[in-house]
Amino acid sequence: MARSRSDKLAEALRLLEKAYGKTPRVKSDVPMDQLAALALASGASGPQAIRALKALRERFVDWNEIRISYRREIAGVIGEVGYRDANDRAVAIKEFLEKLYMDHNMAALAFLEGMEPDQAFDYLKKIRFLREGVAAATVSVAMEPGKFLAVPDVLRVPGRIGLAGKGATPSRVRKTLEDTANEEQRFRAHYLFALHGMDICRSRMPYCAECELSSVCEYGRATLRQGGRAGMRPVPPPPKKKKKKKKKKKAVAKKEAPKPKAPAKKVVGKARPAPAKKRPAVKKKAPAKKRPAVKKKAPAKKRPAVKKKAPAKKRAPAKKRAPAKKKAPAKKKAPVKKRAPVKKKAPVKKRAPVKKKAPVKKKAKKKA
Ligand code: SF4
Repeated sequence: MARSRSDKLAEALRLLEKAYGKTPRVKSDVPMDQLAALALASGASGPQAIRALKALRERFVDWNEIRISYRREIAGVIGEVGYRDANDRAVAIKEFLEKLYMDHNMAALAFLEGMEPDQAFDYLKKIRFLREGVAAATVSVAMEPGKFLAVPDVLRVPGRIGLAGKGATPSRVRKTLEDTANEEQRFRAHYLFALHGMDICRSRMPYCAECELSSVCEYGRATLRQGGRAGMRPVPPPPKKKKKKKKKKKAVAKKEAPKPKAPAKKVVGKARPAPAKKRPAVKKKAPAKKRPAVKKKAPAKKRPAVKKKAPAKKRAPAKKRAPAKKKAPAKKKAPVKKRAPVKKKAPVKKRAPVKKKAPVKKKAKKKA
C-alpha cells in the first residue's frame, strides 16, 4: 500500500534523527538561543545542548556579555555540563559572536529579519563552526510560518526519496513540503535534510550504500539495484609501516656482505702439504701462593677529652658618645662686587694700502 506524503515525511525524519540525534528545540523567541542549542548539539546529544544553553543563560546576562567574557569562563560553564571539548566550543562561540558584532554591531540575530531567507542562510552557513543544518533550521525559525527554504542542499533529500513524486523539480518539492509539513516538522526537516544532504546524499555521488533512508528512498533503491553508481565513503588509507623500511635496509646489508669463498679444489699430482705441527701444550701456571693474613691494627687509643673553654666574659656596654656639638652657621660671604663694564676699544684705523713697487727694470744683458 502506498504511503501518504505526511507518513513518508514522518518516517524519513524519524530515521534521520536515529542517525543524527534528536533535534533540540528551544522554547524561546530569540533566534540566537535556537542557533546556540543546535550548534551545541552537534557532536553531542540534544538534551545536553539544552542543559548547556540553560547554564550559559543563568551565568551571563546576554550574548553580548558572553562575547566580552574570558574564554576560560565560558569553557568552565560548558564543561560543567559534560563537554570534553568545552575549550574549543568556547573559542567557537566567542569567534561567532565577535563576527556578528563586527558585521552588524550586535551580538544577536535581529538583522535576519531584514534579509531574504535564502540570503540569511548563505550568510550563516559561511561562518566557521556553523553547519548547514544549523543555519537552515535557525533561518526557518525566523521565517514566515508555512514557508520553506529554496536551497538545493535542503530540497535534494526530500526530492530523492520521492516525497513529491518521481522526477519532481525542486520548486515542486518545496511546494509539497510547505503543504505537508507542520510547524514542528518544518523545523526538524530544515535541520536534518540539510545535514544529510551535505554528509551522505551529495549532489553527484550519494553514499546510498550506507544511507539510513535507503529503505524509503526510491532513488537510492534504483541506484543500488543497478549497482556501481551508489558510492561508498572513501576509507582512509592505512598508515604506512615503518618496519618494511628496516627490512629493506637489512636486505641491502645482506647483499653487500661478502659471500663465503668456495672450498679450494684439490690439485691432482702435487704433494699434499704437511699437516701443521701441533703446538706444545702450554703448561698451566701454578696457583699463586696465598698471602699471609695481614694483622689487624690495634684500635687507636682514645684521646683525652679536651677541656671546654670557660665562656668569655661579656663586655661592658660601650658608653654612649656625647652628641656632637652643632656647628655655628657659616657666615655669609660678602656679595662679590660687579666688575665695571670693559670699555670698548676704539676701532683700529685701516692701514693705507701699500703702494705696489714699480717692477724692477731688467738689466741689459752684458755684451759678450
Ligand atoms: S538512499 Fe541515496 S539518494 Fe536516497 S537519500 Fe540516501 S543517499 Fe540520498
